[in-house]
Amino acid sequence: MFDALADRLEQAWKKVRGQDKISESNVKDALREVRRALLEADVNLQVVKDFVAEVEQNALGAEVIAGVRPDQQFIEIVYNELVKVMGDANVPLAEAETAPTIVLMAGLQGTGKTTATAKLALHLRKEDKKALLVATDVYRPAAIDQLIALGKQINIPVFDMGKDADPVEIARQGVEKARADGFDVVIVDTAGRLQIDESMMGELKRIKDTIEPHETLLVVDAMTGQEAANLTRTFHEQIGVTGAILTKMDGDTRGGAALSVRRISGQPIKFIGIGEKVDALQPFYPDRMASRILG
Ligand code: GDP
Repeated sequence: MFDALADRLEQAWKKVRGQDKISESNVKDALREVRRALLEADVNLQVVKDFVAEVEQNALGAEVIAGVRPDQQFIEIVYNELVKVMGDANVPLAEAETAPTIVLMAGLQGTGKTTATAKLALHLRKEDKKALLVATDVYRPAAIDQLIALGKQINIPVFDMGKDADPVEIARQGVEKARADGFDVVIVDTAGRLQIDESMMGELKRIKDTIEPHETLLVVDAMTGQEAANLTRTFHEQIGVTGAILTKMDGDTRGGAALSVRRISGQPIKFIGIGEKVDALQPFYPDRMASRILG
């Protein structure tokens, strides 16, 4: 993950390595490399500009510290800014005061939404929370079966009403069942499309208005780079999301999505998907991600 980005940033450190201190001239060269590295990683241009401006200001204002090499100091400044741009700290999943916590999953088709629904249930079980999954994607017949199969695999119950029922009604009854049966969390999987369209957004809104989720998570594919950040913003503007799950972080993603989503959409990345298996989900920690980016 992020190998290309880490290699590129190495060029930036070289510009200040061996110098007595960070100066206006050597930092300029280093910043040019940072900028190039981030653009190549498909980070949103505005995010790159703000990032570089912030690093420049901090680097030029940095005191010379005895025993600390200027390149180490510069790396530290970049690290701090990476953590900041990704949202500083992990934002945990919301928890309802009275169970069940209602989680609505949204996202385009193929992003890994259904897989993430099952992954989240398994993750919650490790925290001793019992989850019920709800299958509302009646348009793609295989989607309901896929969720049922995933549920079986991890021994998590799935509520469905077949493919002829109304998705809003399935969601409503699923949440009712979770409440009646004492589940801690109910996770509602929804239908995706290849791209944003009005009927998908309309249905999501109706489901959201009906079940009033504590958490609306948008599942976005990290491989789509800047698009992931823009998509999160659009979904947030149209239906209101409370966070994102960034999937396929195990692939050869260039890293742009992880860096842009928070800043562009204003919404935190709460989890990352790191593989096809059901246990391949991790909470998102900006500091750990920044360390990985720096290699
Ligand atoms: P949906 O259409 O959004 O519900 O997407 P699916 O859950 O069916 O996933 C689409 C494909 O992406 C499947 O082949 C999944 O195995 C794969 N997938 C989902 N999440 C990840 C991930 O984090 N990493 C990798 N490598 N593949 C994933």
